[in-house]
Amino acid sequence: MSENQQYSFFESVLRSFDKAARFTSWDPGILEQIKACNSVYRMKFPVKIGDSVEVIEAYRVQHSHHKTPCKGGIRFSMEVNQDEVMALAALMTYKCAIVNVPFGGGKGGIKIDPKRYTPYELEKITRRYTAELIKKNFIGPGTDVPAPDYGTGAREMAWILDTYVAMHPGEVDAAACVTGKPVSQGGVRGRTEATGLGVFYGIREICNMPDVMEKLGLSVGMKDKTVVVQGLGNVGYHSAKFFREGGAKVIAIAEWEGAIFNADGLNEEEVFQHRKTTGTILNFPGSTNLAINTDALELECDILIPAALENVINNVNAPKVKAKIIGEAANGPLTPEADEILSAKGTLVVPDMYLNAGGVTVSYFEWLKNLSHVRYGRMEKRFTENMNKHILGQIEDLTGKQVSESERKFIEHGADEVDLVHSGLEETMITATREIMDIWKSNPEIPDMRTAAYISAINKVATSYAELGIFP
Ligand code: GLU
Repeated sequence: MSENQQYSFFESVLRSFDKAARFTSWDPGILEQIKACNSVYRMKFPVKIGDSVEVIEAYRVQHSHHKTPCKGGIRFSMEVNQDEVMALAALMTYKCAIVNVPFGGGKGGIKIDPKRYTPYELEKITRRYTAELIKKNFIGPGTDVPAPDYGTGAREMAWILDTYVAMHPGEVDAAACVTGKPVSQGGVRGRTEATGLGVFYGIREICNMPDVMEKLGLSVGMKDKTVVVQGLGNVGYHSAKFFREGGAKVIAIAEWEGAIFNADGLNEEEVFQHRKTTGTILNFPGSTNLAINTDALELECDILIPAALENVINNVNAPKVKAKIIGEAANGPLTPEADEILSAKGTLVVPDMYLNAGGVTVSYFEWLKNLSHVRYGRMEKRFTENMNKHILGQIEDLTGKQVSESERKFIEHGADEVDLVHSGLEETMITATREIMDIWKSNPEIPDMRTAAYISAINKVATSYAELGIFP
């Protein structure tokens, strides 16, 4: 543990939980059960890399079984350890509860640096890990459903699916054993951008609340808000894209090699292409370099989006953070000390376990699609379009006027899969934002939005335990 970090990640989750539990009146035993990690599976397995054998360390944690399956991503990183996976699994339980996704929390991790391996070697490691999960019944459509996380994506999910299917021949719902798959393998359209889009929907909803904006000294709406994004991975890239498209200005983007700044706004796709061709985010035309990547966290801006790893804002740099709103796109980017410093300064910290719930929400839609064996929109798209055409034709006949071509296209359009997924996500994020804000406003003693989010999660999980009864 570093000097700046007085608590382990799991301990800081417990601390936030306890802070919120004081505002509830649940039986202490129920609260203890909600906090506990139900099952921790730590494994070591050998994989032949080149001519030698490497022993790989990996985990899968099932934090809560109050609803099954358990749900949560698998990360590939050298930072993976039991404490981290436990903390992330716990956050998944609370995240799912807040956005009403009917799963318990889970998380997995393989302690490797994926950049050190060829795709073939990564495939071997992923398939062997999946086989270990199968052996102990730690994966399956009704038991535990992994997904992408830091260092993994659709490709790894396809390997997991293929390994699972090979070992469960004839299982009709097998595709639901993992989410975040490529669309050709049963994935759902809209999953890739889901977390970034959810971050945008959540922050946009907050920016549309006049009382909250007034307190922060900001104008209502997204237009011209200045945004700094840390991390240009999947979540950071898509957050930047939707903020830009929504009318905000992304004035800085940071990656591990440094950061770039442009007061007129950056285009994330151009920055991404620049990094791909030159190997670095630095020296992007028209922008200023910031040599130390963490300097970006201290820039003057309205909204700061940490979208990489945990603990990037701590007691040392928190006093220097000038953003009015921090949107936790990553899991656990603030240490508990940073949280307290920022909340005392009046910064609005929008907590990870609700704000980045877009990924698991769309995973839920993917899981439902796999179990129903039909693409969203397949049954109604054509019907809706025919009906819309008919209604529009009638209106035009009756009024003797014609709508423009672009209006016609818009009105007649029947929903595709991606339209329904985005709309389901928008509804989920708006509802969750309002629920948490209502809890926060209901009691002036509740110190911050994170505590309000935890209260929402605790109430939902505890209700579920209470209604379930405890097995004798
Ligand atoms: N890894 C993502 C998260 O932390 C997604 C999990 C999922 O889709 O199950 O929320």
